[in-house]
Amino acid sequence: MYDVIVVGVGGMGSAAAYHSAARGARVLALEQFGIPHELGSSHGLSRIIRLAYWEHPAYVPLVRRAYDLWRALEQASREPLLVVTGSIDAGLPTTANVIGARAACAAFGLEHDELDSAALTARFPGYRLPNDAVAVYQPDGGFLLPEQCIVTHVTLARQHGAHVREHEPVITWDADDAGVRVTTQAGTYSAARLILTAGAWTGSLVRRVAPALAPERQVMLWTRPLRPAVFEVGAFPVFYINMPDGPFYGFPSHDGRGFKIGRYHHRRELVDPATVDRTCRPEDEAVLRDGIRRYFPDADGPTLAMKVCLFTNTPDEHFVIDRLHGGARVVVAAGFSGHGFKFCSVVGEILADLALDGGTRHDISLFSLSRLPIAFP
Ligand SMILES: Cc1cc2nc3c(=O)[nH]c(=O)nc-3n(C[C@H](O)[C@H](O)[C@H](O)COP(=O)(O)OP(=O)(O)OC[C@H]3O[C@@H](n4cnc5c(N)ncnc54)[C@H](O)[C@@H]3O)c2cc1C
Repeated sequence: MYDVIVVGVGGMGSAAAYHSAARGARVLALEQFGIPHELGSSHGLSRIIRLAYWEHPAYVPLVRRAYDLWRALEQASREPLLVVTGSIDAGLPTTANVIGARAACAAFGLEHDELDSAALTARFPGYRLPNDAVAVYQPDGGFLLPEQCIVTHVTLARQHGAHVREHEPVITWDADDAGVRVTTQAGTYSAARLILTAGAWTGSLVRRVAPALAPERQVMLWTRPLRPAVFEVGAFPVFYINMPDGPFYGFPSHDGRGFKIGRYHHRRELVDPATVDRTCRPEDEAVLRDGIRRYFPDADGPTLAMKVCLFTNTPDEHFVIDRLHGGARVVVAAGFSGHGFKFCSVVGEILADLALDGGTRHDISLFSLSRLPIAFP
C-alpha cells in the first residue's frame, strides 16, 4: 500500500514524485516508456523559462516559485539545470505578448528594457526583426535542460525512497472512499491518493476530460549558424516573437547543438499520441526555415537536427490542475498547452500539496476543471 501513485513520469510526474517522496510519503511512480524518452512533451534539450509572463498575471508568482525550486534542485543534486540568457518578447506594438510582457514587468516590478528593432539588433546582432517591431528584454529569462530536469527529479525521488518503475504502462485505475487502485500488466497497486500526469495521453486515462485536451504535433529545428558567435549563450537571449506570419520561439546554441527554433502551433495538426507522425518532413522544415530567413538570417546554415514533440492544448491554453472528484483522492495535471515545462518544479510542489495535504497555498484557480466545456456528473 502506497501513500501516492503517480501515473506518467515526464516533466510533471517526475517533479510530483520527488516532492511527495521528499515529504516522507511512500510513492510509486509508473512510466510507460524509459526515463527520459522522446515520445511525449518534454524532450529536445531546452525549454524557455521567463518571468515576463504575458499569458496571464497569475503565472508570475508561480514562475517565481518555479525559479526558486529549480535552483534548490540544482543545489541538492549538484546538476546544472537552468541557464540564464535573458528573454525577448517581440512583435508589433499591438501584439498580445508585447503588451502582456510589458504589463507583467510593470505589475511585478521586473527589471526590463524596451528596445526598438534597431536597438535590439545593435545589442543582440542575431536578431533582424522588421523596422516596426518592438521588444521587451527581461534579463532573468533563460532555458531549462528538460531531460536532465526529469532525470534529476527521479534520481532524488528514488533517494527519498520512491519506487519509480519504467516500461510499465497503466492500463486502468479506479477510486472509491477506501483508496485508489492502479492496474498494469505487472499487477494492481493500491494507494491512498493518485496523481495523474500523463501528458498527451491523459484523455485515454480520464475519458471525461478528453474533450478539453487536444494533443498537437510540433517540430523543432536546430541549425549551424553562419555567424556562430552571435547565437551563443551570453550573446543571444531566448525569444518569443509574434509577427503577422505567426509566433516563433527559440534558443541560443548551447553545448555546440546549434541555434534552435520552433513555430508555436507549428502546422496546427491535432493528433493522437498513439499514431502521430514522428518523422520530420520537408514541409516541416520549410515552416521553420521561413522564420529563420526572415528574422534570423545569420542562423540560416545547415540543418543539424529536427524532432517531433507534442503539445496538449486546452481551449483557453491555461493549464488543468485540479482534483477529479471534488475530494483530494485523485489529482490531475495536464493540458499544459505548450508552455508548461518551466512550471514543472512548482507544479510538483502543488501536486504533492493537493495529494498529501488536500490543499495548496498557491493560487491555482485559473486551472480549475470547472471552467472547461466538459460535463461532470
Ligand atoms: C516542441 C515543444 C516546445 C516547448 N517549449 C516550451 C518552452 O520553451 N517552455 C515551456 O515552459 N514549455 C514548453 N513546452 C511545453 C512543455 O514541454 C510541456 O508543457 C511539458 O513538457 C508537459 O509535461 P507533462 O509532464 O504534462 O508531459 P510529458 O513530459 O509528456 O509526461 C507525460 C508522461 O506520461 C507518460 N504516460 C502517459 N500515459 C501513461 C500510462 N498509461 N502509463 C504510464 N505512463 C504514461 C508518458 O509516457 C510521459 O512520459 C514545449 C513543448 C513542446 C512539445
